[in-house]
Amino acid sequence: MTTDHGHPAVRMYIAGEWCQGGAGRTAPIVNPATEEAIGEVPLATAADLDHALAAAADGFRRWRATPVTERTAVLHRAAVFIADRAEHIGRVMTREQGKPLRESAGEARRSADALRWHADDARRAYGRIIPSDPGTLLTVRREPLGPVAAFVPWNFPAGGPNRKISSALAAGCSLIIKAAEETPATAMELVRCYADAGLPPGVLNLVFGEPAEVSAHLIDSPVTRLVAFTGSVPVGKLLAARAGAVMKPTLMELGGHAPVIVCADADPVTAARRAARAKWANAGQVCTSPSRFLVHASLLEEFTAEFVRAAEAVVLGDGTAEGTTMGPLANERRLAAVERLTADAVARGAKVLTGGERPAGPGYFFPPTVLTDVPGDAELMTEEPFGPLAPIVPFDDLDEALATANALPYGLAAYGFTRSAATAEKLSDTLEAGILSLNHCGGSVHEAPSGGVKDSGHGREGGPEALDAYLVTKRVSHLLA
Ligand code: NAD
Repeated sequence: MTTDHGHPAVRMYIAGEWCQGGAGRTAPIVNPATEEAIGEVPLATAADLDHALAAAADGFRRWRATPVTERTAVLHRAAVFIADRAEHIGRVMTREQGKPLRESAGEARRSADALRWHADDARRAYGRIIPSDPGTLLTVRREPLGPVAAFVPWNFPAGGPNRKISSALAAGCSLIIKAAEETPATAMELVRCYADAGLPPGVLNLVFGEPAEVSAHLIDSPVTRLVAFTGSVPVGKLLAARAGAVMKPTLMELGGHAPVIVCADADPVTAARRAARAKWANAGQVCTSPSRFLVHASLLEEFTAEFVRAAEAVVLGDGTAEGTTMGPLANERRLAAVERLTADAVARGAKVLTGGERPAGPGYFFPPTVLTDVPGDAELMTEEPFGPLAPIVPFDDLDEALATANALPYGLAAYGFTRSAATAEKLSDTLEAGILSLNHCGGSVHEAPSGGVKDSGHGREGGPEALDAYLVTKRVSHLLA
């Protein structure tokens, strides 16, 4: 079923049924490229959430008792559906989130691959046997933790939910996921792939609602055993505190403010090209997006010139249009935030080398913006921009640059460019970040863990570590005889 605008009609998925729920409460879904309402998302009531909690409790009992080979087979079938439907999921995503079709379909395809990785890892959730006294079998087992309450934002409308769903289900947990109200149809099309693959009812439940109401309800319920959140630091702290009050573990993938250190011996042109490509991806709305460019003073001119060239080569437009390389910001809040951060930097003496103003016409568009002479007290230097803003700041001494890089409470991603192995080791050793890329701005890969330190959160997604948060370790000692 589609709306008058050709967008899928959004439903929640509870206890194996697609339902309107919400007792009629809805919010509009807005196309950020046109500002048109293209559909409506139902908002759950307390009764809907109680229904989802009961379903997840029941689903957990079934799913943990399902042989791992069967669980893996269902997940692999879901991955086939996601891959087969990637173009469709991509089109839905672009309409409600804005990113170019190439990025959105690519995200859907990568989601299928992430799911395959996690499905296979389900079969490797090994325990261990520990040498013990004669006649005693001492083992350590890893069991699924229980029903999960998961909350994901709008910047990766398929990849975000899929990371949580695939890890939880591979571990044997059930889950209630509140996907972003801004990008609900993508989450619905993703969940449909799992449902069509034959997932038993109640194992995966998708809801939307008033975020604070939903999170309070799900966290406080004794049914849920883990709170998994991706989003901003302030909201992450709120949810972690609430979970702490009921002694629930959390998995927190929060914001960052990634420094890029371009050392004196780096090639400034290559560094600028690679950093710029990462900067404009998803219009800068990525938690690992490079966002403070610390460049050795001797390379400043060349680096900046190439960075500006790369910014001006970006084709800003509707993500569905041929040739677009950067879409609009995903919502009005982001547009207001990047305008505020730019105005504040300029008021404090920064120079805008390119971009800096939204183009005329509808849509939440903001161009790639490169700034220099940005003082350390500009909001942009301490607040995650989460948009296409690139402040370039020179440094003379690497130790000072490292101190600047580490000065913020964030610690998610960091990047360094150098041709010296010794300097690369110094960066690896010193930068306070959970994800470090040297001589490129690498994106996340399923085979390796992602996550932060300090205010950027705790726990890891991806890699063999991905199932850790969803499994509980149990020691069993068995006196035989
Ligand atoms: P926000 O802080 O209002 O919300 C962030 C996400 O958390 C949204 O998906 C929102 O629905 C959800 N949320 C908000 N309050 C909640 C609550 N009480 N319970 C459960 N979920 C709740 O900000 P926003 O305007 O949506 O996004 C802007 C900021 O969020 C960015 O500046 C960035 O720092 C951060 N963000 C981070 C990521 C990430 O991947 N880590 C993704 C999106 C947004």
